[in-house]
Amino acid sequence: MKLFPNTVINFHVVHDPIWMEFVLKTLKSLFNMVSAQHIESYYYSGEKLKNACHITFDDGHQSFYYNVFPLLKELRIPATLFVSPKAILNRENFWFQEIGGYNRQIFKKFIKKQININNSRLQKIPLNSFLKNMDLENIWKVIEQYQKQMNTGPTPCVNITSEQLIELHQSGLVTIGAHTMNHPILKNEKDKMASLEIQKSIEGLKILLNADIKYFAYPNGVPGLDFDEREMEVLRENGIALAFSTENKSFNKRNNPLNIPRRGISKGNRIFLIFKLLWGQHWDKLKRTIGGKQENDYRLMLKRMEVLP
Ligand SMILES: [Zn+2]
Repeated sequence: MKLFPNTVINFHVVHDPIWMEFVLKTLKSLFNMVSAQHIESYYYSGEKLKNACHITFDDGHQSFYYNVFPLLKELRIPATLFVSPKAILNRENFWFQEIGGYNRQIFKKFIKKQININNSRLQKIPLNSFLKNMDLENIWKVIEQYQKQMNTGPTPCVNITSEQLIELHQSGLVTIGAHTMNHPILKNEKDKMASLEIQKSIEGLKILLNADIKYFAYPNGVPGLDFDEREMEVLRENGIALAFSTENKSFNKRNNPLNIPRRGISKGNRIFLIFKLLWGQHWDKLKRTIGGKQENDYRLMLKRMEVLP
């Protein structure tokens, strides 16, 4: 059997438990499924890993509790869940969860008003490329404007409760890691804010779970675009051993343990899954060749144009 490279996989919302069961069983047949502690030992204590796979879930959406956790127990597969103690304790949505049901065209108009620009070149740029170039304060300003003008209330919370988080933690199967307080694109925030977002999320989870928090996932997670050395330094100061990006690659000893790549999976059959696991790094290139500029290309373009609120 072909050996797969050591891989961390990243999921977000899981709407379909049947698809999830298929993915987990496929992964289990291809890999040795390991916990985050094994990856920590690999980087810090010389543990050898071969054909290893660790699965992670970002944000703490309630679909993890209802659609994934029962399968993890049944199949005895360990996982890491990255959450914000603030979103869970206050029953809050992150900004992208809040706008999930909004009319994207109308919402884009509000953003352009905020940016105060009406450039026809910006027409085809996807909504997320604008939002992911903004800081939290400006994102929430636009959300408030939208809610006021559309006469719509806050979106019901989509995240797990603190009781569910504690149950997941106590299962011994799910490791809890930090994911900031409010899910900013850290690089868009000033030094003090970026530092507080990281530090408070680690502290809050420590208190909530009465446990050490050693792992972290960067919101959005693109190295250089969403975080850089500044964020890694704050994590180091706060005792984080492993931090995960969303760079679509397998991992090895050459990676900095505070910048470990993860492959994202959100759909697909067995062939697609194996393609992404083996040649995932070509996937982005392929998408660009077929579909033209992608979200991050537009973000870089907007940065060059200095289109920021
Ligand atoms: Zn996230």
